[in-house]
Amino acid sequence: MSTVLRMSSLFVRTLRDDPADAEVPSHRLLVRAGYIRRNAPGIYTWLPLGLRVLRRIEAIVRDEMDSIGSQELLFPALLPREPYEATGRWTEYGDGIFRLRDRKGADYLLGPTHEEMFTLVVKDLYSSYKDLPLSIYQIQTKYRDEARPRAGVLRGREFTMKDAYSFDLDDAGLDASYQRFRDAYIRIFDKLGFEYVIVHAHAGAMGGSKSEEFLAKAEVGEDTYVRCTRCDYAANVEAVQIAAPSPVSYDDAPAAHAEDTPDTPTIESLVTMLNQRFPRHDRPWVASDALKSVLMVLTHPDGTTEDLAIGVPGDREVDQKRLEASVYPASFRPFGDEDFARHPELAKGYMGPGVLGEKNASKIRFLVDPRIVQGTRWVAGADLHNSHVLDLVAGRDFTADGEIEAADVRAGDPCPVCVAEGRDGVLEAARGIEMGHIFQLGRKFADALGLQVLDENGKLVTVTMGSYGIGPSRAVAAIAENTLDDLGLCWPRNVAPADVHLVATGTDDHVFATADRIARQLAADGVTVLYDDRQKVSPGVKFKDAELLGVPTIVVIGRNLADGTIEVRDRRTGDREEIQVDHVVNHLVRLVS
Ligand code: ATP
Ligand code: MG
Repeated sequence: MSTVLRMSSLFVRTLRDDPADAEVPSHRLLVRAGYIRRNAPGIYTWLPLGLRVLRRIEAIVRDEMDSIGSQELLFPALLPREPYEATGRWTEYGDGIFRLRDRKGADYLLGPTHEEMFTLVVKDLYSSYKDLPLSIYQIQTKYRDEARPRAGVLRGREFTMKDAYSFDLDDAGLDASYQRFRDAYIRIFDKLGFEYVIVHAHAGAMGGSKSEEFLAKAEVGEDTYVRCTRCDYAANVEAVQIAAPSPVSYDDAPAAHAEDTPDTPTIESLVTMLNQRFPRHDRPWVASDALKSVLMVLTHPDGTTEDLAIGVPGDREVDQKRLEASVYPASFRPFGDEDFARHPELAKGYMGPGVLGEKNASKIRFLVDPRIVQGTRWVAGADLHNSHVLDLVAGRDFTADGEIEAADVRAGDPCPVCVAEGRDGVLEAARGIEMGHIFQLGRKFADALGLQVLDENGKLVTVTMGSYGIGPSRAVAAIAENTLDDLGLCWPRNVAPADVHLVATGTDDHVFATADRIARQLAADGVTVLYDDRQKVSPGVKFKDAELLGVPTIVVIGRNLADGTIEVRDRRTGDREEIQVDHVVNHLVRLVS
């Protein structure tokens, strides 16, 4: 027996006006349709309809986890400091976690993720290779003091996560576990019913090797991913390792020479000047001929700071997210006036490899884009105002302290896999929302916390782990975002808060009596009905509400009942069918199953 949710008593208020703080369509609609209510930045209450969607998503996730033999448990959200101290994350997380102190002065945190706890519980209970492989998971509330909580439950400071871990003896075991979870994730995302892509990912906070993200395709997403138009390569931009060219010979390159280039602090002004004063005979100068230096101040988890110079081709910008991924766990900010004041040797707008680098005057670590390979020729600042060096050859005239993947990745860039395999595929770019992240964690946490078991020969071996996360609360917003239309929410059937939205219109008692009966029969057949039984509300308002709430099938009982028919509408396509009263229950049962 399923439920009948009666609009006359359901705890919901639909709103005509958009909430003032909502910049993303799904956020606007989830609030207007009475699914969620805000309590504080990034902290939301789930109202009955919203909670139903959330629970359905959790149920789909739970089923698939159970089906691959992962076992559910539940950790507390309130956690002691010590395990996080042992792995270094108490410090590493910085401002990213909520910390609190108990009455005795002991430190606690609200769990942002639970690797430590999973590792320790296995260490606590297991000691032999015979106990492995093992996989365990929980669906639990997490807390992160996100710098930019955003778009309602899309990026919350309190949110739900399913986090699962696999424990294996060796790499082959980990590979098998990873594949099992990956397959389960594909089944989960297929069931959720919206468009997603699987992309290579940066393992980020967790370290580890193989790593993939499941992204919902969405313009409003904060992740940019690229896809090859020729092969099946797809990656989050954070994880792209660009196709670096091979070193070139510089035997016939002229010696580097400094030139006056007045008033050229920007790449654009420099290129114009070069073409006027130093025209090339093969082709005009372009922005990518210049070597641009971008200065940052890194802050390490222990609070120490470090200056960093990044060299990129002049037509590229430093991409915040790629830099973030490359310098993790440090954070960064751009150089300000006070930082330049600390470095009088830097000629702002005219800096170059002559002064940057640990062995040069500034002592600032200088990392360059992988395109700046040996033999490539550049125009760079001469470290004197109004002057640049031409024919500056990498490997001959300067050597950086290392490489860094931080330059932006763009549509049209060569696909790194195709380049490696001798093809000429190019990348296209799109935006998405990270919904799930699976990766091979390896032995990082097992090492830090001493998770070892005895192998067949009685030798202690460190266990290798996989980590598999999915965000059900974020999924509510991401699915809404991916499926909504001009009229309102438009849920895929598997996650909708009800199977049918039954609307009784008019004031005729016969209409309401028939609607009551149909609602009860549907419920008895396992169909969840959202029943608009409100007597004093106009049909117009009821239809608007039905469109806004987004239940996939709308059933209208009203005027046509006199002719013995009931209207069945598809919320997504707007298609309407007249169904005989006597057949409507069977018709709907078939439709929703
Ligand atoms: P993001 O890059 O979006 O901050 P993340 O990489 O920090 O996410 P993970 O640590 O991999 O996220 O967490 C696993 C899953 O938990 C994510 O794929 C996402 O679905 C969900 N999640 C993470 N942070 C949030 C959040 N602030 N609000 C809602 N869901 C979240
Ligand atoms: Mg992630």
